[in-house]
Amino acid sequence: MYSPAGVKTDPSHPIPDTMKAWVLGEPGELTLKDKPVPVPKKAEVLVRIDAVAICATDLEIIYNGPPASILGGMPFNKNFTPGHEYMGTVVALGPGVDEYRIGQRVTVEIHAGCGQCRRCREGMYTSCHNYGLNYGDVDKGHRANGFTTDGGFCEYQVNNINTLVAISDDMSDEEATLVVTAGTAMYGLTELGGLVAGESVVVTGPGPIGLLGVAVAKALGAQPVILTGTRDNRLKIGLELGADHVVNIRKEPDVVAAVKRLNGGKGVDYVLECSAAPSAVNEAVHMVNRGGKVCLAAFAHGDVPVEVAHIVRNNIYLYGIRGEGKSATHRAEAFMAQKRFDATKIHTHTFALEDLPTAIRYAKDRVEDAIKVVVKARGVPQVQKEAAE
Ligand SMILES: [Zn+2]
Ligand SMILES: [Zn+2]
Repeated sequence: MYSPAGVKTDPSHPIPDTMKAWVLGEPGELTLKDKPVPVPKKAEVLVRIDAVAICATDLEIIYNGPPASILGGMPFNKNFTPGHEYMGTVVALGPGVDEYRIGQRVTVEIHAGCGQCRRCREGMYTSCHNYGLNYGDVDKGHRANGFTTDGGFCEYQVNNINTLVAISDDMSDEEATLVVTAGTAMYGLTELGGLVAGESVVVTGPGPIGLLGVAVAKALGAQPVILTGTRDNRLKIGLELGADHVVNIRKEPDVVAAVKRLNGGKGVDYVLECSAAPSAVNEAVHMVNRGGKVCLAAFAHGDVPVEVAHIVRNNIYLYGIRGEGKSATHRAEAFMAQKRFDATKIHTHTFALEDLPTAIRYAKDRVEDAIKVVVKARGVPQVQKEAAE
């Protein structure tokens, strides 16, 4: 039985020595294997993973590699387990941990900074200067589960206490996996200034972060909130999450003019760019008014052309954000706990952990209009199990 030295366990939550874990081989190749259950160190706990959502970034990692960095390079054939948007139950406490108790339900942030570099000291732990320095003899204490350390497509994972967010029993497992997605949108709005009440916001791209970006902006009092995208079914969910207006750019090719028309003829105060479309950044800097701010929350796929002179002439601010920094996930969870928006509107499918390849196909090919697809090690509804076969 699992009983590492210095680690507190409890008979109410017995832990096996080994677990099922999906391991990345060649690009796109995942195999279910047995791995030892990992051991929490100082300031870490062991989380039994109850549910994990698939993110577009997981697909990038599984098929292309970056932004994962394992042993200082590509993540393939390194016994690496991807997956980062998970929640679960604390089942073991590392030495000295008294901030959480065994049996407590938690959801997780992705990044645990090293805690000692300049950026971590400023609270910018997603921009840790020791990013990825956690292999072999190098252990700076940095973790980014599913990016630089083993992630959540398995049964158990260790997490630094600073990456945990306690959740109440009336939040479902599936909803809890979405807290970090809302947290990423919250971080973007935090970097834009945070006080967006009464100010105008455009969100470009109705993916999970964009849709929850609409919800968070609205919960923060932004007015109007305008969502742009290409799929009517997703724009409709944006309206349900609080968007005042939506623009389908297939029907309105001049999206900048459409946004200004909806905002009383003026540019907006903020744009949260979540689409990664090649034209999106240049459109965003033309959507904001003079002195406006643009937050880039999507990983672009290559160089994109931008009219820099327009940015300079109009004193426009551009912010890149990485992940869910500055404890934004806690603020997002507070909104969700207060039912300020229903994040579950973007959850569309649940599969068993063993059916991860099917779940990934649903997410990647948007089968049945899939948005957020969740896998669970236990408690999967029978109907979804059958659908996977
Ligand atoms: Zn993600
Ligand atoms: Zn650091």
